[in-house]
Amino acid sequence: MRDRPIVTIDGPSGAGKTTVSRRLAERASLTRLDTGAMYRACALAARKAGIPWSDGARLGRLCAELDLSFPKGEKGEPGVALRGEDVSDAIRTPEISMGASEVSVHKQVREAMVSLQRKLGERGGVVLEGRDTGTVVFPDAEAKFFLDAAAAVRAKRRFLEWGAGGRKPFEEVLREVLRRDIRDSTREHSPLRMAEGAVYIDTTTLTVEEAVEEMLRNLPDGARKGLGL
Ligand code: C5P
Repeated sequence: MRDRPIVTIDGPSGAGKTTVSRRLAERASLTRLDTGAMYRACALAARKAGIPWSDGARLGRLCAELDLSFPKGEKGEPGVALRGEDVSDAIRTPEISMGASEVSVHKQVREAMVSLQRKLGERGGVVLEGRDTGTVVFPDAEAKFFLDAAAAVRAKRRFLEWGAGGRKPFEEVLREVLRRDIRDSTREHSPLRMAEGAVYIDTTTLTVEEAVEEMLRNLPDGARKGLGL
């Protein structure tokens, strides 16, 4: 038995997992683990090492030895470092977003990442966000959520995130979001789907605060213990 719960949040890109998990982590005194950032770091590391995103075997070896750490930024925001180098911004480009989606289809990559994620989260007191955190990484989590939103709203969030006017026209961002959704939910290994027992939350018209409230209202009894609420 864990003293503190594991909370999982899965869902498609732009559903609000990152902002919502950050706020939930603050409210409930949980450590946040952004599993998408790990697949992004893998895509970036592969690019730097000249390994094609299609080469599952080499990517798997690369991921098994990936020197990843999660330092806090200047304002206390969670970051990602690769061999000690802060790559928090470098992993957020549209190109690396697509790369993360490409590398994450490989079984070898998923095995390496899931094993690291389990090691980081097994003691509890953690909120994980991703695509398979409630289905594969911790199917026994005390609380599971599936966040979703209308595709146009999800694409708009990504578009705005990428700076004034975005680097690409909105229509292109929407197409990329949809392409990534299809790849993530139709892949053979750990496709994006709602975990058994997960609570479904549609964030299309919700603020971050409202989404977090909705999650706290829907927390299973067993998950309340050990949360800083
Ligand atoms: O959540 P984020 O957009 O940062 O994730 C980037 C990509 O990493 C996703 O499109 C998905 O392909 C992959 N991913 C995954 N499993 C996770 C988290 C992310 O396959 N648990």
